[in-house]
Amino acid sequence: MEFLKKLGIKEKNFGSSTGTVWNETTDQGELKIYSPATGEYIASVYQASENDLGKLLKSSEEAFKYWRTVPAPKRGEIVRQIGNKLREYKKDLGSLVSFEMGKSLQEGMGEVQEMIDICDFAVGQSRQLYGFTMQSERPMHRMYDQYHPLGIVCTISAFNFPVAVWAWNAMLAAVCGDVNIWKPSSKVPLSAIACQNIIKDVLVENKLPEGIFTLIVGKGSTIGEKILNDNRIPLISVTGSTNVGRHAGEVIAKRFGRAILELGGNNAIIMTPEVDLKMAMPAVVFGAVGTAGQRCTSTRRLIVHESIYDKVKESLTKAYGGLKIGNPLDEKNHVGPLIDKNAVKDFNNALKLAVEEGGKVIYGGQVLEGENYKSGSYVVPAIVEAENHYKIVQEETFAPILYLIKYSGDVKNAIALQNGVVQGLSSSIFTNNMREAEMFLSAEGSDCGIANVNIGTSGAEIGGAFGGEKETGGGRESGSDSWKTYMRRQTNTINYGTALPLAQGIKFEI
Ligand code: NAD
Repeated sequence: MEFLKKLGIKEKNFGSSTGTVWNETTDQGELKIYSPATGEYIASVYQASENDLGKLLKSSEEAFKYWRTVPAPKRGEIVRQIGNKLREYKKDLGSLVSFEMGKSLQEGMGEVQEMIDICDFAVGQSRQLYGFTMQSERPMHRMYDQYHPLGIVCTISAFNFPVAVWAWNAMLAAVCGDVNIWKPSSKVPLSAIACQNIIKDVLVENKLPEGIFTLIVGKGSTIGEKILNDNRIPLISVTGSTNVGRHAGEVIAKRFGRAILELGGNNAIIMTPEVDLKMAMPAVVFGAVGTAGQRCTSTRRLIVHESIYDKVKESLTKAYGGLKIGNPLDEKNHVGPLIDKNAVKDFNNALKLAVEEGGKVIYGGQVLEGENYKSGSYVVPAIVEAENHYKIVQEETFAPILYLIKYSGDVKNAIALQNGVVQGLSSSIFTNNMREAEMFLSAEGSDCGIANVNIGTSGAEIGGAFGGEKETGGGRESGSDSWKTYMRRQTNTINYGTALPLAQGIKFEI
């Protein structure tokens, strides 16, 4: 495939790089990567060793000593050039993301666009790493706070966003003066290797030292654990399941490290009697079946007022009937495959449990077979009539299952159902009623990190802070003032007088 060649993906690839230099380790096992789209073998990656991680950390420690002294807008200039390289390779990288992960080509390219957008955002941010100036209570004193680079930042990313999550973290961290280690998901390492190849020219042309953008492909249980426990890494951004995030959070907290936790969601859309169905229906369907239900922000629950329930159910099943399922690289198709056969098992199992608890599958649920579905990872997205308290509804199943839940009475009842899960990532309400919308956004409203009105749960813009509450982990990355997490804050007080007054009027004379 032409795009593999352009992205420098070989038949066999090394798994760790300090920037432009690859460690040639071959004795830690080889990851063989197959496309969930076609079942075809793509290429393999040699996993990195603990020794390779040591080399990366050493080069990063050295690079940080230099990088932190480069003025932030100059660091922004490097990120600007990376953004331009990504523009050049958008189609190729988008195609690889789609082929390796299984999301549609549109979404693969959208993911690369997100990387470009965050580069632009980070370039602007590089001139805006502001602190405040405060008024001192003491005469002839000046007080302010400032932000300094933190050190080595590690991004541990999930399979479903093979490249964007790295950019969200690494580009902001880079303008903040930090150096980066990336541990991608072992299910999609080729996309990460491609990124490393794309940025190589920028590193070389600007004569940057090794260690500013590094990559390590290795097992979570060995390399991942080493990273979590390493005191030289003050900040780790973990995107993944709640189980992995809970463990990572505990280990990092024990050594007083900082963690950005971006974990599972259980996102709901509320439809009140004043919904504009024409607008809402595409948002629900895209939210539930886009990326085959494998977005952290995928719509998993649809909470509908009883007065419109039957109508919504009918138009939803009709819309699902029109979905085309197949190769994500073919732009005609709406739904691609799940990442692997284990995900298909989880899909089947969740449907079984939902039925055992009293749920009714009213659409889909089949596993597709035949020439077009050779990878064995294609399923028909399912709609299940269910109740919010079912154990399986309370969990995040990373697959296209939409639970249809009825509410009655006031919008507050719908909000209670929406909030009645342990996760707190994304939420939406579809209504033309201002009181309902404002209630949803108020302190009594949605308890999620993202709350939208007349927009679905998925497809966030990079300008806002992204993340969620409760078991979603509480982390924020990307836009708004998320950059502050990547820096250490320092309060400075300067006495330009000749006396030494103490704060709070305390007297101490010698
Ligand atoms: P996962 O938890 O299986 O893996 C995530 C990452 O953690 C991978 O890189 C994995 O190798 C690594 N890992 C596993 N064990 C580790 C350990 N002991 N130490 C260090 N690292 C370890 O998740 P996944 O299946 O790749 O992704 C799907 C999950 O990610 C879903 O739950 C989804 O909701 C979540 N997700 C959340 C967000 C968000 O922003 N909130 C975004 C994307 C995905």
